[in-house]
Amino acid sequence: MPAKLGFIPCLPCWLCLPCWPIMFDLVIIGAGPAGLSAAIHAKRLGLNFTIIERGTPGGQATVAWKIENFPGDLSISGAKLMDRFLSHVNELEIKIQRTEAESVSFKDGLYLVRTDQEDISSNALILATGLEPVRISRPDAHYYPDPNSLRHEGRTVLVIGGGDSAFDEAISFSAKAKKVTIAMRGAGPKAIPGLVTEAIKRGIEIKCGLNENELAKLDADIIVACIGKRRDLNILDDPLQITNHKSQITAIQLAGDILHPNIRHIAVALGDGITAVETVYENNIKNGRS
Ligand SMILES: Cc1cc2nc3c(=O)[nH]c(=O)nc-3n(C[C@H](O)[C@H](O)[C@H](O)COP(=O)(O)OP(=O)(O)OC[C@H]3O[C@@H](n4cnc5c(N)ncnc54)[C@H](O)[C@@H]3O)c2cc1C
Repeated sequence: MPAKLGFIPCLPCWLCLPCWPIMFDLVIIGAGPAGLSAAIHAKRLGLNFTIIERGTPGGQATVAWKIENFPGDLSISGAKLMDRFLSHVNELEIKIQRTEAESVSFKDGLYLVRTDQEDISSNALILATGLEPVRISRPDAHYYPDPNSLRHEGRTVLVIGGGDSAFDEAISFSAKAKKVTIAMRGAGPKAIPGLVTEAIKRGIEIKCGLNENELAKLDADIIVACIGKRRDLNILDDPLQITNHKSQITAIQLAGDILHPNIRHIAVALGDGITAVETVYENNIKNGRS
């Protein structure tokens, strides 16, 4: 039995049940929009599951200045929208485990998730961990930060990047910062027109077409980098377990930004969470129950 759980116990552990990994139908890693949506749907299906989060529940959406593409809300801050999601999760008595998934391995039909607290074993796994920011060479840079987490009243802020997130962050900082500058390599902003117009209205300085040297020379009290994101599968022992092919019954399901790094939207992530739960239910759990 212990070997089946991917756990090789030492002699005292044979006698000590609490040392054995905790067993679930499903583990969801990440409590951003995708993971929270998966958790709500897993609860609805009556699954024995857990959800783990290493940072702020609500994920990247919590830092969004204004969300204007979430059906049902003309305009709402990311923090407020995610508070609503988290209230829903609380009402359902879903407990988010505040810990980091350090590694995921697969053996004898079960996943073993190692965390900085306890090990967790499951029949199925949903990876809803979002994306990792692309780094720049400045050691003092903050990546897609929550502006409220950085004291910026009366200080200068430099945001590097030209997309939606760069403009969104710059606008958030501009409420209290002394001066905000957005700087980018591209010839012009890639952000949606509404964000660019708002940035101009707020007096944010926009510098375009800079080369690496010119960017490196710019300085400010706070440096923020929003130059892109990438998928990171380093926690998986074997990234080949990732497939959405239906015949691969042991496949890890991806949900949210990590599934499609170029389509980063809350509503899409929510749908992914539900699809992932339906898929693992069909492939990994339903038959085992009947
Ligand atoms: C500034 C900004 C503005 C935005 N504005 C909008 C907008 O207006 N409209 C819109 O639709 N979208 C917007 N987005 C995009 C939206 O926030 C994302 O598409 C959405 O949050 C993706 O959800 P997710 O659950 O896939 O990932 P995330 O929100 O990134 O959540 C992933 C979670 O997984 C956790 N995690 C990662 N690794 C581990 C681990 N090893 N162990 C445990 N936990 C882990 C992370 O801490 C994180 O909380 C914006 C994003 C930003 C940054």
